[in-house]
Amino acid sequence: MNTVILVRYEEIFLKGLNKPAFEGRLIKNMKKVLNGLGPVDVFKAQSRIYVEPENEDYPLDEAIKRLAGVFGIASVSPVLKLETDKEIIYERSVEMVQNIVKRNRYKTFKVETRRADKRFPMNSMEVSRELGGIILQKVPELNVNVTEPDFILHVEIREYTYIYSEIVPGVKGLPVGCNGQATLLLSGGIDSPVAGWMVAKRGVRLEAVHFYSYPYTSERAKDKVIRLANILSRYTLGLRLHIVPFTEIQLAINQQCPKEYLTIIMRRFMMKITERIAQQNGSLGLVTGEAIGQVASQTLESLLVTNSAVTMPVYRPCIGMDKNEVVELARKIDTYETSILPYEDCCTVFVAKHPVTKPQLEKTIAYESVLDIEGLIDKALKETEVINIQ
Ligand code: ATP
Ligand code: MG
Repeated sequence: MNTVILVRYEEIFLKGLNKPAFEGRLIKNMKKVLNGLGPVDVFKAQSRIYVEPENEDYPLDEAIKRLAGVFGIASVSPVLKLETDKEIIYERSVEMVQNIVKRNRYKTFKVETRRADKRFPMNSMEVSRELGGIILQKVPELNVNVTEPDFILHVEIREYTYIYSEIVPGVKGLPVGCNGQATLLLSGGIDSPVAGWMVAKRGVRLEAVHFYSYPYTSERAKDKVIRLANILSRYTLGLRLHIVPFTEIQLAINQQCPKEYLTIIMRRFMMKITERIAQQNGSLGLVTGEAIGQVASQTLESLLVTNSAVTMPVYRPCIGMDKNEVVELARKIDTYETSILPYEDCCTVFVAKHPVTKPQLEKTIAYESVLDIEGLIDKALKETEVINIQ
């Protein structure tokens, strides 16, 4: 029989009526990431999901790698699916252990059996003990260690029997699409892709908005953001990216508002525009990569003024993180190398030498009121380009 992939998810989120919706969404998302790898049967049994390839040459490693990045999956194992027949189970278990020992320098093991099919004549303990004894005979370099074995051979006896040892950890979280949608302000930096990833991890679908200031920022800066959106979309399973021209707004602020308030007013425009896009696409919140105190525009005073520009909730999952913690996560999710490419961001184009670190809301509103705020926003929205990333 074939190798199949066993996918585990955590039960803790699955109380009551949500369970079928959760499982259905997870299966749909799994099928999406496996698309193109070859024909498979994906089905649920006993609160697990099995992926059964139709052909022998199915790329299992690639499939496992992709599944390990799907939110909602706790872990993944390649397993051998066997007839529930004692002789077959023992024979194939010994083969599997011999292969494991060939590839690794393992010295100790234990057998862990689960018997879900009570028609099988031996109980779990009896199977573990008997099979353990046979393995000791056939693979004499191994010893049993029940407390801290180098590897565990798992035997699950059901209608069919599944044997496996390898367990690849998944990203956990909840399946994207279970928890509505939010709109991410995606810069070319390190923080915002991480922020988006963290919110998506909780089952939230994302749209993304990027502000660019052509010709002050180059085509390459825009390409970089598209690349970041592509990496993110591996997790979010598609992402619509709105690219908003921001030059005219920045020039207007630069000409008509006090220098030290440039950044904070600019950030209020970003929030307002994103909120408009979010309302149009059915999002229930905005997401940014802000962290307290990281830069002048992220002091509590600045965050208050920025936040006051909108009424939708703003989620800031990086809020309490140090930069190195964000970097660590960025590496893990594979956005870091792209984020550090040295292309300018629209925030760095017009900056004051000494931006305010304690802006006042009334002053900010008074300064920006000389601008045609609605007119500028409408125009930017009209000229926004939308890219559908699959
Ligand atoms: P990042 O690493 O995400 O760029 P940062 O430390 O550089 O963060 P800022 O430039 O102050 O911080 O931006 C704070 C947040 O505002 C970003 O995390 C992002 O959510 C949003 N943002 C900044 N610039 C842009 C942009 N050009 N387009 C869209 N969103 C932006
Ligand atoms: Mg930035």
